[in-house]
Amino acid sequence: MAHELPPLPYPYDALEPYIDEQTMRLHHDIHHKAYVDGLNNAEAKLAEARKSGDFALVKHWSREAAFHGSGHLLHSIFWPNMIPASQAKPAPEGALAAAIERGFGSFEAFKAQFTAASIAVEGSGWGILAYRPADDSLVILTAEKHQNLTQWGVVPLLVLDVWEHAYYLRYQNRRAEYVKNFFNIINWDDVAARYEKARS
Ligand code: MN
Repeated sequence: MAHELPPLPYPYDALEPYIDEQTMRLHHDIHHKAYVDGLNNAEAKLAEARKSGDFALVKHWSREAAFHGSGHLLHSIFWPNMIPASQAKPAPEGALAAAIERGFGSFEAFKAQFTAASIAVEGSGWGILAYRPADDSLVILTAEKHQNLTQWGVVPLLVLDVWEHAYYLRYQNRRAEYVKNFFNIINWDDVAARYEKARS
C-alpha cells in the first residue's frame, strides 16, 4: 500500500538547457522522494492512531499527510507535464485548446495570466491550471503553501463544515458535540454515489 516515487518519464538531462540535469536529480531523487517518505510515514502514524485509539497527534499527522501528500501528487503531475523542447508543441490543440479559449479568451491571454500568477507566488508554491468539474471549466490557481489546499487531485466525498457559523447557535463552543451529531445525519447514499462517480 506504500506510496512510491514514480520514475522520471525521460532522462535527467532531457530538459536541458531549460532545466539542468543537477536540478532534476536533486528535485526528483531527493525532494520528491522526501514527500513520498513523509506521506508514507504520516499515513502509518495515522493507522497506528486508529489502532490504539490515541488521536492526541491527529492534527500534526493530518498536516504532515496534507503537506507530503500534496507535494507527492503535484510533483507526480509536474514531471509528465514536461517534455524535451525538441518534442514540445507550441500550444495545446483540440478540446483543451477550445476550453482554454472559452475560459480565458485566447491562448495568449491564458499564457499571460498563468505566467503572471506563477511569478506572483510568494515563497514556495505552484502555478496551476485546473479543471473545475462543478461548471465544466478551467481555472488558474496558485498555491503558496500546498498543504493549505490539502491533497491535490483528490475528489471530496463527504465534507463537514466546522466553521463556527455552521454550529454556533445550537452548540456555541461545543464543536465536538456538533461533529459527533453529524454522524446522525449523513446521507451515505449521496457519499456512495460520489464515490462511484469519482471512480468511473
Ligand atoms: Mn518541487
